[in-house]
Amino acid sequence: MSDPMDVLAPEHRRLRIGDSWRDAASGATFAVEDPATGTTVAEVADAGVADGLAALDAASRAAAQWAATPPRKRSELLTATYRALTDRSEEVARLITLEMGKPLAEARAEVAYGAEFFRWFAEEAVRVEGRYSTAPAGGYRILTVPKPVGPCVFVTPWNFPLAMGARKIAPALAAGCTTVTKPAAQTPLTMLLLARIMEEVGVPAGVVNVVTTRRAGEVVSALLADTRTRKVSFTGSTEVGRVLLRQAADNVLRTSMELGGNAALIVCADADLDVALRGALVAKMRNIGESCIAANRIYVEEPVREEFTKRFTERMGALVVGRGFDDGVDVGALIDGPSVAKLDDLVADAVGRGARVLVGGVRPDGPGHFYPPTVLVDVPDDARMLREEIFGPVAPIIGFTSDDEVMAKANDTEHGLVGYVFTRDLQRALRFAEGLQTGMIGVNRGLISDPSAPFGGVKQSGIGKEGSHEGILEYLDVTYAAIDLP
Ligand code: NAP
Repeated sequence: MSDPMDVLAPEHRRLRIGDSWRDAASGATFAVEDPATGTTVAEVADAGVADGLAALDAASRAAAQWAATPPRKRSELLTATYRALTDRSEEVARLITLEMGKPLAEARAEVAYGAEFFRWFAEEAVRVEGRYSTAPAGGYRILTVPKPVGPCVFVTPWNFPLAMGARKIAPALAAGCTTVTKPAAQTPLTMLLLARIMEEVGVPAGVVNVVTTRRAGEVVSALLADTRTRKVSFTGSTEVGRVLLRQAADNVLRTSMELGGNAALIVCADADLDVALRGALVAKMRNIGESCIAANRIYVEEPVREEFTKRFTERMGALVVGRGFDDGVDVGALIDGPSVAKLDDLVADAVGRGARVLVGGVRPDGPGHFYPPTVLVDVPDDARMLREEIFGPVAPIIGFTSDDEVMAKANDTEHGLVGYVFTRDLQRALRFAEGLQTGMIGVNRGLISDPSAPFGGVKQSGIGKEGSHEGILEYLDVTYAAIDLP
Protein backbone atom coordinates (compact mmCIF):
# COMPACT_ATOMS: atom_id res chain seq x y z
CA MET A 1 0.00 0.00 0.00
CA SER A 2 1.38 3.43 -0.90
CA ASP A 3 1.63 5.94 1.92
CA PRO A 4 -1.73 7.75 2.38
CA MET A 5 0.31 10.84 3.33
CA ASP A 6 1.69 11.09 -0.23
CA VAL A 7 -1.45 12.98 -1.19
CA LEU A 8 -0.51 15.94 1.03
CA ALA A 9 2.97 17.29 0.22
CA PRO A 10 5.03 18.58 3.17
CA GLU A 11 4.55 22.21 2.02
CA HIS A 12 0.78 21.73 2.39
CA ARG A 13 1.00 20.46 5.96
CA ARG A 14 1.24 24.09 6.96
CA LEU A 15 -1.21 26.93 7.51
CA ARG A 16 -3.30 27.96 4.52
CA ILE A 17 -3.48 31.75 4.79
CA GLY A 18 -4.38 33.91 1.80
CA ASP A 19 -2.29 32.75 -1.15
CA SER A 20 0.39 31.15 1.02
CA TRP A 21 1.13 27.90 2.78
CA ARG A 22 3.20 28.89 5.74
CA ASP A 23 4.67 27.77 9.03
CA ALA A 24 3.31 29.08 12.30
CA ALA A 25 4.99 32.37 13.25
CA SER A 26 6.57 30.57 16.19
CA GLY A 27 7.76 27.72 13.97
CA ALA A 28 5.96 25.27 16.28
CA THR A 29 4.41 22.06 14.97
CA PHE A 30 2.42 19.22 16.48
CA ALA A 31 2.10 15.54 15.70
CA VAL A 32 -0.89 13.82 14.08
CA GLU A 33 -1.38 10.21 15.11
CA ASP A 34 -2.86 7.16 13.42
CA PRO A 35 -5.32 6.03 16.12
CA ALA A 36 -5.12 2.42 14.91
CA THR A 37 -1.39 2.14 15.61
CA GLY A 38 -0.55 5.06 17.86
CA THR A 39 2.25 6.11 15.48
CA THR A 40 2.87 9.67 14.31
CA VAL A 41 1.98 10.11 10.65
CA ALA A 42 2.72 13.81 10.16
CA GLU A 43 3.66 17.07 11.81
CA VAL A 44 1.51 20.13 11.07
CA ALA A 45 1.91 23.80 11.94
CA ASP A 46 0.77 24.79 15.43
CA ALA A 47 -0.78 28.22 14.94
CA GLY A 48 -0.84 30.89 17.61
CA VAL A 49 -3.09 33.93 17.93
CA ALA A 50 -1.03 35.98 15.44
CA ASP A 51 -1.44 33.27 12.80
CA GLY A 52 -5.18 33.05 13.42
CA LEU A 53 -5.50 36.81 13.00
CA ALA A 54 -3.38 36.67 9.82
CA ALA A 55 -5.92 34.18 8.43
CA LEU A 56 -8.73 36.54 9.38
CA ASP A 57 -6.85 39.41 7.65
CA ALA A 58 -6.76 37.29 4.50
CA ALA A 59 -10.45 36.41 4.79
CA SER A 60 -11.49 40.01 5.31
CA ARG A 61 -9.27 41.32 2.49
CA ALA A 62 -10.89 38.81 0.11
CA ALA A 63 -14.44 39.39 1.38
CA ALA A 64 -15.63 42.27 -0.85
CA GLN A 65 -14.35 40.75 -4.06
CA TRP A 66 -15.75 37.31 -3.28
CA ALA A 67 -19.13 38.78 -2.37
CA ALA A 68 -19.10 40.63 -5.71
CA THR A 69 -18.10 37.52 -7.70
CA PRO A 70 -21.06 36.48 -9.86
CA PRO A 71 -23.06 33.67 -8.24
CA ARG A 72 -22.62 31.56 -11.36
CA LYS A 73 -18.84 31.82 -11.02
CA ARG A 74 -18.99 30.91 -7.32
CA SER A 75 -21.25 28.02 -8.23
CA GLU A 76 -18.81 26.76 -10.86
CA LEU A 77 -15.96 26.74 -8.34
CA LEU A 78 -18.09 24.71 -5.92
CA THR A 79 -18.96 22.28 -8.71
CA ALA A 80 -15.26 21.98 -9.55
CA THR A 81 -14.58 21.17 -5.88
CA TYR A 82 -17.32 18.52 -5.94
CA ARG A 83 -15.78 16.95 -9.06
CA ALA A 84 -12.24 17.03 -7.70
CA LEU A 85 -13.33 15.39 -4.42
CA THR A 86 -15.27 12.77 -6.34
CA ASP A 87 -12.42 12.07 -8.78
CA ARG A 88 -9.94 11.86 -5.93
CA SER A 89 -12.26 10.04 -3.53
CA GLU A 90 -9.86 7.21 -2.83
CA GLU A 91 -6.94 9.44 -1.79
CA VAL A 92 -9.13 11.64 0.36
CA ALA A 93 -10.75 8.57 1.96
CA ARG A 94 -7.37 7.05 2.78
CA LEU A 95 -6.26 10.23 4.50
CA ILE A 96 -9.48 10.25 6.57
CA THR A 97 -8.93 6.63 7.62
CA LEU A 98 -5.31 7.36 8.46
CA GLU A 99 -5.97 10.23 10.84
CA MET A 100 -9.42 9.28 12.16
CA GLY A 101 -9.45 5.47 12.16
CA LYS A 102 -12.78 4.71 10.47
CA PRO A 103 -12.99 1.78 8.01
CA LEU A 104 -12.08 2.74 4.46
CA ALA A 105 -15.59 2.00 3.19
CA GLU A 106 -16.98 4.53 5.68
CA ALA A 107 -14.31 7.05 4.73
CA ARG A 108 -15.34 6.68 1.08
CA ALA A 109 -18.95 7.27 2.13
CA GLU A 110 -17.84 10.39 4.00
CA VAL A 111 -16.10 11.72 0.89
CA ALA A 112 -19.27 11.16 -1.15
CA TYR A 113 -21.33 12.87 1.57
CA GLY A 114 -18.89 15.77 1.99
CA ALA A 115 -18.53 16.30 -1.77
CA GLU A 116 -22.30 16.40 -2.12
CA PHE A 117 -22.45 19.58 -0.01
CA PHE A 118 -20.38 21.29 -2.70
CA ARG A 119 -22.71 20.08 -5.44
CA TRP A 120 -25.83 20.99 -3.47
CA PHE A 121 -24.62 24.50 -2.61
CA ALA A 122 -23.32 25.04 -6.16
CA GLU A 123 -26.99 24.70 -7.09
CA GLU A 124 -28.15 26.96 -4.23
CA ALA A 125 -25.61 29.71 -5.02
CA VAL A 126 -27.63 30.82 -8.05
CA ARG A 127 -31.02 30.65 -6.28
CA VAL A 128 -30.60 33.38 -3.67
CA GLU A 129 -33.56 35.67 -4.02
CA GLY A 130 -35.04 38.80 -2.48
CA ARG A 131 -38.63 40.09 -2.64
CA TYR A 132 -40.40 43.15 -3.98
CA SER A 133 -43.79 43.98 -2.53
CA THR A 134 -46.23 46.78 -1.87
CA ALA A 135 -46.36 48.00 1.72
CA PRO A 136 -49.77 46.99 3.17
CA ALA A 137 -50.67 50.64 3.78
CA GLY A 138 -49.61 51.59 0.25
CA GLY A 139 -47.41 54.55 -0.61
CA TYR A 140 -44.14 52.71 -0.84
CA ARG A 141 -42.54 49.46 -1.86
CA ILE A 142 -40.53 46.94 0.17
CA LEU A 143 -37.43 45.49 -1.45
CA THR A 144 -35.47 42.77 0.38
CA VAL A 145 -31.92 41.84 -0.57
CA PRO A 146 -29.99 38.91 0.96
CA LYS A 147 -26.32 39.75 1.45
CA PRO A 148 -23.40 37.60 2.63
CA VAL A 149 -22.87 37.96 6.37
CA GLY A 150 -19.11 38.46 5.90
CA PRO A 151 -16.02 36.62 7.13
CA CYS A 152 -16.88 33.41 8.99
CA VAL A 153 -14.95 31.40 11.57
CA PHE A 154 -15.49 27.64 11.58
CA VAL A 155 -14.50 25.18 14.29
CA THR A 156 -14.93 21.50 13.41
CA PRO A 157 -14.65 18.13 15.22
CA TRP A 158 -12.58 15.05 14.41
CA ASN A 159 -15.34 12.51 13.75
CA PHE A 160 -16.04 13.55 10.13
CA PRO A 161 -12.84 15.38 9.17
CA LEU A 162 -14.11 16.30 5.69
CA ALA A 163 -17.88 16.47 5.94
CA MET A 164 -18.17 18.69 9.03
CA GLY A 165 -16.04 21.34 7.28
CA ALA A 166 -17.73 20.86 3.90
CA ARG A 167 -21.16 21.49 5.49
CA LYS A 168 -19.96 24.97 6.49
CA ILE A 169 -17.52 25.98 3.74
CA ALA A 170 -19.81 25.09 0.82
CA PRO A 171 -22.84 27.18 1.89
CA ALA A 172 -20.63 30.04 3.07
CA LEU A 173 -18.89 30.28 -0.29
CA ALA A 174 -22.19 29.89 -2.13
CA ALA A 175 -23.58 32.85 -0.17
CA GLY A 176 -20.48 34.96 -0.89
CA CYS A 177 -18.70 34.68 2.48
CA THR A 178 -15.00 34.08 3.09
CA THR A 179 -13.83 31.63 5.75
CA VAL A 180 -11.26 30.67 8.38
CA THR A 181 -11.53 27.03 9.48
CA LYS A 182 -9.93 25.54 12.56
CA PRO A 183 -10.15 21.75 12.24
CA ALA A 184 -9.83 19.43 15.23
CA ALA A 185 -6.21 18.99 16.33
CA GLN A 186 -6.55 15.22 16.01
CA THR A 187 -7.61 15.32 12.34
CA PRO A 188 -6.21 18.42 10.63
CA LEU A 189 -4.87 16.70 7.49
CA THR A 190 -8.12 16.22 5.57
CA MET A 191 -9.05 19.90 5.93
CA LEU A 192 -5.60 20.91 4.65
CA LEU A 193 -6.12 18.60 1.68
CA LEU A 194 -9.53 20.17 1.01
CA ALA A 195 -7.93 23.64 1.07
CA ARG A 196 -5.27 22.41 -1.37
CA ILE A 197 -7.92 20.94 -3.68
CA MET A 198 -9.87 24.20 -3.58
CA GLU A 199 -6.71 26.12 -4.42
CA GLU A 200 -6.11 23.79 -7.37
CA VAL A 201 -9.61 24.23 -8.77
CA GLY A 202 -9.17 28.00 -8.68
CA VAL A 203 -10.96 29.25 -5.55
CA PRO A 204 -9.37 32.69 -5.05
CA ALA A 205 -6.79 33.26 -2.33
CA GLY A 206 -8.23 34.35 1.02
CA VAL A 207 -11.63 32.70 0.51
CA VAL A 208 -10.67 29.43 2.25
CA ASN A 209 -8.13 29.75 5.06
CA VAL A 210 -7.20 26.87 7.37
CA VAL A 211 -5.48 27.26 10.71
CA THR A 212 -4.30 24.13 12.51
CA THR A 213 -3.50 24.55 16.17
CA ARG A 214 -3.25 22.81 19.48
CA ARG A 215 -4.31 26.01 21.20
CA ALA A 216 -7.96 26.07 20.12
CA GLY A 217 -9.21 28.13 23.07
CA GLU A 218 -6.72 30.97 22.63
CA VAL A 219 -6.84 31.16 18.85
CA VAL A 220 -10.60 30.88 18.46
CA SER A 221 -11.38 33.38 21.20
CA ALA A 222 -9.06 35.92 19.51
CA LEU A 223 -10.88 35.35 16.23
CA LEU A 224 -14.29 35.80 17.85
CA ALA A 225 -13.16 38.96 19.65
CA ASP A 226 -12.12 40.58 16.36
CA THR A 227 -14.88 42.75 14.93
CA ARG A 228 -14.05 41.69 11.36
CA THR A 229 -15.50 38.24 12.13
CA ARG A 230 -19.25 38.28 11.45
CA LYS A 231 -20.26 34.68 12.04
CA VAL A 232 -19.11 31.60 13.92
CA SER A 233 -20.26 28.11 13.07
CA PHE A 234 -19.23 25.32 15.41
CA THR A 235 -19.67 21.56 15.37
CA GLY A 236 -18.61 19.75 18.51
CA SER A 237 -19.56 19.17 22.09
CA THR A 238 -22.33 21.09 23.85
CA GLU A 239 -19.79 22.06 26.51
CA VAL A 240 -17.51 23.90 24.05
CA GLY A 241 -20.55 25.24 22.17
CA ARG A 242 -21.66 27.04 25.35
CA VAL A 243 -18.21 28.64 25.68
CA LEU A 244 -18.28 29.87 22.08
CA LEU A 245 -21.83 31.22 22.42
CA ARG A 246 -20.67 33.30 25.39
CA GLN A 247 -17.70 34.61 23.42
CA ALA A 248 -19.86 35.32 20.37
CA ALA A 249 -22.14 37.48 22.51
CA ASP A 250 -19.50 40.19 22.94
CA ASN A 251 -19.41 40.84 19.20
CA VAL A 252 -23.08 39.94 18.64
CA LEU A 253 -22.05 37.36 16.04
CA ARG A 254 -24.37 35.25 13.95
CA THR A 255 -23.96 31.71 15.32
CA SER A 256 -24.65 28.19 14.15
CA MET A 257 -24.14 25.44 16.69
CA GLU A 258 -24.18 21.72 15.83
CA LEU A 259 -23.71 20.14 19.24
CA GLY A 260 -23.99 16.82 21.01
CA GLY A 261 -26.87 14.35 20.97
CA ASN A 262 -28.41 11.58 23.05
CA ALA A 263 -30.68 9.90 20.50
CA ALA A 264 -33.39 7.47 21.52
CA LEU A 265 -34.13 4.73 19.01
CA ILE A 266 -37.60 3.27 19.56
CA VAL A 267 -38.63 -0.12 18.19
CA CYS A 268 -42.39 -0.73 18.42
CA ALA A 269 -43.82 -4.24 18.55
CA ASP A 270 -45.52 -3.73 15.18
CA ALA A 271 -42.25 -2.82 13.41
CA ASP A 272 -40.78 -4.89 10.61
CA LEU A 273 -38.01 -6.37 12.76
CA ASP A 274 -35.60 -6.84 9.85
CA VAL A 275 -35.92 -3.16 9.01
CA ALA A 276 -35.56 -2.19 12.68
CA LEU A 277 -32.46 -4.34 13.11
CA ARG A 278 -30.82 -2.90 10.00
CA GLY A 279 -31.75 0.62 11.09
CA ALA A 280 -30.56 0.14 14.66
CA LEU A 281 -27.25 -1.30 13.51
CA VAL A 282 -26.49 1.61 11.20
CA ALA A 283 -27.78 4.21 13.67
CA LYS A 284 -25.58 2.75 16.42
CA MET A 285 -22.50 1.64 14.52
CA ARG A 286 -22.01 4.10 11.66
CA ASN A 287 -18.68 5.81 12.19
CA ILE A 288 -17.79 3.36 15.01
CA GLY A 289 -20.58 4.94 17.06
CA GLU A 290 -18.61 8.20 17.10
CA SER A 291 -21.41 10.27 15.68
CA CYS A 292 -23.61 12.98 17.15
CA ILE A 293 -26.66 11.22 15.69
CA ALA A 294 -25.69 7.77 16.97
CA ALA A 295 -28.47 5.83 18.70
CA ASN A 296 -27.49 6.27 22.34
CA ARG A 297 -30.47 4.51 23.93
CA ILE A 298 -32.35 1.66 22.23
CA TYR A 299 -35.90 1.25 23.56
CA VAL A 300 -37.74 -1.89 22.45
CA GLU A 301 -41.41 -2.66 23.17
CA GLU A 302 -41.75 -5.66 25.47
CA PRO A 303 -43.41 -8.19 23.09
CA VAL A 304 -40.40 -8.05 20.72
CA ARG A 305 -37.64 -7.10 23.16
CA GLU A 306 -36.25 -10.60 23.55
CA GLU A 307 -36.18 -11.42 19.85
CA PHE A 308 -34.78 -8.01 18.89
CA THR A 309 -32.09 -8.24 21.58
CA LYS A 310 -31.04 -11.74 20.51
CA ARG A 311 -30.74 -10.85 16.83
CA PHE A 312 -29.13 -7.43 17.45
CA THR A 313 -26.57 -9.00 19.78
CA GLU A 314 -25.70 -11.65 17.17
CA ARG A 315 -25.13 -8.96 14.57
CA MET A 316 -23.04 -6.80 16.89
CA GLY A 317 -20.94 -9.82 17.87
CA ALA A 318 -20.28 -10.67 14.21
CA LEU A 319 -18.79 -7.25 13.38
CA VAL A 320 -15.08 -7.33 12.64
CA VAL A 321 -12.89 -4.93 14.63
CA GLY A 322 -9.56 -3.83 13.20
CA ARG A 323 -7.48 -1.27 11.38
CA GLY A 324 -9.62 0.75 8.98
CA PHE A 325 -7.35 -0.11 6.05
CA ASP A 326 -7.77 -3.87 6.45
CA ASP A 327 -10.25 -5.78 4.28
CA GLY A 328 -13.52 -6.76 5.90
CA VAL A 329 -13.17 -4.46 8.91
CA ASP A 330 -16.49 -3.05 10.15
CA VAL A 331 -15.34 -1.27 13.29
CA GLY A 332 -12.14 0.80 13.21
CA ALA A 333 -10.11 2.40 15.97
CA LEU A 334 -11.60 5.01 18.27
CA ILE A 335 -9.99 8.42 18.17
CA ASP A 336 -7.86 8.19 21.32
CA GLY A 337 -7.16 6.50 24.65
CA PRO A 338 -9.51 8.71 26.72
CA SER A 339 -12.41 7.73 24.42
CA VAL A 340 -11.73 4.04 25.12
CA ALA A 341 -11.37 4.72 28.84
CA LYS A 342 -14.70 6.58 28.82
CA LEU A 343 -16.46 3.54 27.30
CA ASP A 344 -14.89 1.31 29.93
CA ASP A 345 -16.16 3.66 32.64
CA LEU A 346 -19.68 3.84 31.21
CA VAL A 347 -19.92 0.04 30.96
CA ALA A 348 -18.51 -0.42 34.50
CA ASP A 349 -20.98 2.16 35.83
CA ALA A 350 -23.96 0.40 34.20
CA VAL A 351 -22.81 -3.06 35.35
CA GLY A 352 -22.32 -1.65 38.86
CA ARG A 353 -25.99 -0.62 38.79
CA GLY A 354 -27.19 -4.06 37.70
CA ALA A 355 -26.79 -4.13 33.90
CA ARG A 356 -25.65 -7.30 32.09
CA VAL A 357 -23.20 -7.37 29.17
CA LEU A 358 -24.39 -9.74 26.40
CA VAL A 359 -21.47 -9.22 24.06
CA GLY A 360 -18.22 -7.21 24.11
CA GLY A 361 -17.45 -5.05 27.11
CA VAL A 362 -13.76 -5.94 27.35
CA ARG A 363 -11.15 -3.76 25.68
CA PRO A 364 -8.52 -5.69 23.75
CA ASP A 365 -4.79 -5.60 24.52
CA GLY A 366 -2.30 -4.29 22.02
CA PRO A 367 -1.64 -1.02 20.22
CA GLY A 368 -4.33 1.32 18.91
CA HIS A 369 -7.53 2.54 20.50
CA PHE A 370 -10.02 -0.28 19.98
CA TYR A 371 -13.23 -1.22 21.74
CA PRO A 372 -15.49 -4.14 20.76
CA PRO A 373 -19.16 -3.80 19.79
CA THR A 374 -20.98 -4.15 23.09
CA VAL A 375 -24.62 -4.78 24.02
CA LEU A 376 -26.05 -4.31 27.52
CA VAL A 377 -29.47 -5.13 28.96
CA ASP A 378 -31.14 -4.42 32.32
CA VAL A 379 -29.63 -0.94 32.19
CA PRO A 380 -31.34 1.19 34.87
CA ASP A 381 -32.56 4.72 34.11
CA ASP A 382 -29.88 6.28 36.29
CA ALA A 383 -26.97 4.64 34.43
CA ARG A 384 -24.59 7.27 33.08
CA MET A 385 -24.70 5.83 29.56
CA LEU A 386 -28.37 6.74 29.27
CA ARG A 387 -27.67 10.34 30.24
CA GLU A 388 -24.33 11.02 28.53
CA GLU A 389 -23.27 10.79 24.91
CA ILE A 390 -21.63 7.33 24.60
CA PHE A 391 -19.75 8.12 21.37
CA GLY A 392 -18.63 4.57 20.72
CA PRO A 393 -19.81 1.04 19.84
CA VAL A 394 -21.80 0.43 23.04
CA ALA A 395 -25.55 -0.22 22.86
CA PRO A 396 -27.87 -0.31 25.89
CA ILE A 397 -31.24 -1.99 25.17
CA ILE A 398 -34.16 -1.06 27.40
CA GLY A 399 -37.71 -2.45 27.31
CA PHE A 400 -40.88 -0.32 27.29
CA THR A 401 -44.59 -0.97 27.59
CA SER A 402 -46.36 2.24 26.54
CA ASP A 403 -45.78 5.05 24.04
CA ASP A 404 -46.27 7.73 26.71
CA GLU A 405 -43.66 6.11 28.91
CA VAL A 406 -41.04 5.82 26.17
CA MET A 407 -41.74 9.32 24.82
CA ALA A 408 -41.21 10.78 28.30
CA LYS A 409 -37.93 8.86 28.69
CA ALA A 410 -36.73 9.79 25.22
CA ASN A 411 -37.38 13.48 25.93
CA ASP A 412 -35.83 13.41 29.39
CA THR A 413 -32.50 14.84 28.22
CA GLU A 414 -30.97 18.26 27.62
CA HIS A 415 -30.22 17.13 24.07
CA GLY A 416 -32.58 17.26 21.10
CA LEU A 417 -30.70 16.33 17.96
CA VAL A 418 -32.41 13.27 16.52
CA GLY A 419 -34.72 10.37 17.37
CA TYR A 420 -35.57 7.17 15.52
CA VAL A 421 -38.81 5.22 15.49
CA PHE A 422 -39.59 1.89 13.88
CA THR A 423 -43.27 1.06 13.40
CA ARG A 424 -45.63 0.07 10.60
CA ASP A 425 -48.42 2.18 12.10
CA LEU A 426 -48.52 5.56 10.38
CA GLN A 427 -50.39 7.34 13.16
CA ARG A 428 -47.98 6.03 15.76
CA ALA A 429 -45.02 7.16 13.64
CA LEU A 430 -46.53 10.63 13.30
CA ARG A 431 -47.22 10.87 17.04
CA PHE A 432 -43.56 10.12 17.73
CA ALA A 433 -42.40 12.48 14.98
CA GLU A 434 -44.43 15.28 16.57
CA GLY A 435 -43.80 14.35 20.21
CA LEU A 436 -40.05 13.79 20.22
CA GLN A 437 -38.23 16.99 21.11
CA THR A 438 -35.60 16.72 18.40
CA GLY A 439 -34.59 18.61 15.28
CA MET A 440 -34.66 15.41 13.20
CA ILE A 441 -36.32 12.02 13.24
CA GLY A 442 -35.70 8.82 11.31
CA VAL A 443 -38.88 6.85 10.63
CA ASN A 444 -38.03 3.25 9.74
CA ARG A 445 -34.55 4.53 8.81
CA GLY A 446 -31.31 4.60 10.73
CA LEU A 447 -29.54 6.89 8.30
CA ILE A 448 -30.81 10.44 8.06
CA SER A 449 -27.85 12.61 7.00
CA ASP A 450 -28.44 14.13 3.58
CA PRO A 451 -27.01 17.39 2.17
CA SER A 452 -30.42 18.23 0.73
CA ALA A 453 -32.14 18.02 4.16
CA PRO A 454 -31.88 20.54 7.03
CA PHE A 455 -29.60 18.97 9.65
CA GLY A 456 -29.64 20.42 13.15
CA GLY A 457 -30.87 20.07 16.69
CA VAL A 458 -33.10 21.76 19.23
CA LYS A 459 -32.65 22.23 22.99
CA GLN A 460 -28.95 21.99 23.87
CA SER A 461 -28.10 20.16 20.66
CA GLY A 462 -27.76 23.38 18.79
CA ILE A 463 -28.94 26.38 16.85
CA GLY A 464 -29.38 26.59 13.08
CA LYS A 465 -29.38 24.16 10.19
CA GLU A 466 -26.78 22.73 7.84
CA GLY A 467 -27.61 21.46 4.36
CA SER A 468 -30.78 22.06 2.35
CA HIS A 469 -32.04 25.53 1.41
CA GLU A 470 -31.95 26.50 5.10
CA GLY A 471 -28.19 25.90 5.06
CA ILE A 472 -27.43 28.89 2.85
CA LEU A 473 -29.75 31.19 4.81
CA GLU A 474 -27.35 30.83 7.77
CA TYR A 475 -24.82 32.82 5.73
CA LEU A 476 -27.11 35.58 4.49
CA ASP A 477 -28.32 38.77 6.14
CA VAL A 478 -31.54 40.12 4.73
CA THR A 479 -31.52 43.88 4.31
CA TYR A 480 -34.56 45.81 3.23
CA ALA A 481 -35.12 49.04 1.36
CA ALA A 482 -38.30 51.11 1.75
CA ILE A 483 -38.83 52.82 -1.62
CA ASP A 484 -41.18 55.73 -1.74
CA LEU A 485 -43.83 55.35 -4.47
CA PRO A 486 -46.99 57.30 -3.65
P1 NAP B 1 -15.04 19.21 21.04
O1 NAP B 1 -14.13 18.77 22.08
O2 NAP B 1 -16.14 20.14 21.40
O3 NAP B 1 -14.13 19.83 19.89
C1 NAP B 1 -14.66 20.32 18.70
C2 NAP B 1 -13.76 21.40 18.16
O4 NAP B 1 -13.72 22.48 19.09
C3 NAP B 1 -12.32 20.97 17.94
O5 NAP B 1 -11.83 21.63 16.79
C4 NAP B 1 -11.64 21.50 19.19
O6 NAP B 1 -10.28 21.75 19.04
C5 NAP B 1 -12.39 22.78 19.39
N1 NAP B 1 -12.32 23.32 20.74
C6 NAP B 1 -12.16 22.65 21.91
N2 NAP B 1 -12.16 23.53 22.95
C7 NAP B 1 -12.31 24.77 22.42
C8 NAP B 1 -12.40 26.07 22.97
N3 NAP B 1 -12.31 26.29 24.27
N4 NAP B 1 -12.56 27.11 22.13
C9 NAP B 1 -12.64 26.90 20.80
N5 NAP B 1 -12.57 25.70 20.22
C10 NAP B 1 -12.42 24.63 21.02
O7 NAP B 1 -15.78 17.98 20.34
P2 NAP B 1 -15.13 16.69 19.70
O8 NAP B 1 -14.76 15.79 20.80
O9 NAP B 1 -14.08 17.04 18.70
O10 NAP B 1 -16.35 16.12 18.84
C11 NAP B 1 -17.32 15.35 19.40
C12 NAP B 1 -18.56 16.17 19.72
O11 NAP B 1 -19.03 16.79 18.53
C13 NAP B 1 -19.69 15.30 20.19
O12 NAP B 1 -20.35 15.91 21.27
C14 NAP B 1 -20.61 15.22 18.98
O13 NAP B 1 -21.94 14.97 19.31
C15 NAP B 1 -20.44 16.57 18.39
N6 NAP B 1 -20.83 16.58 16.98
C16 NAP B 1 -22.00 17.21 16.64
C17 NAP B 1 -22.43 17.20 15.32
C18 NAP B 1 -23.71 17.87 14.93
O14 NAP B 1 -23.88 18.12 13.75
N7 NAP B 1 -24.61 18.19 15.84
C19 NAP B 1 -21.67 16.56 14.35
C20 NAP B 1 -20.49 15.93 14.73
C21 NAP B 1 -20.09 15.95 16.06
P3 NAP B 1 -9.22 20.64 19.53
O15 NAP B 1 -9.35 19.53 18.59
O16 NAP B 1 -7.91 21.32 19.43
O17 NAP B 1 -9.58 20.28 20.93
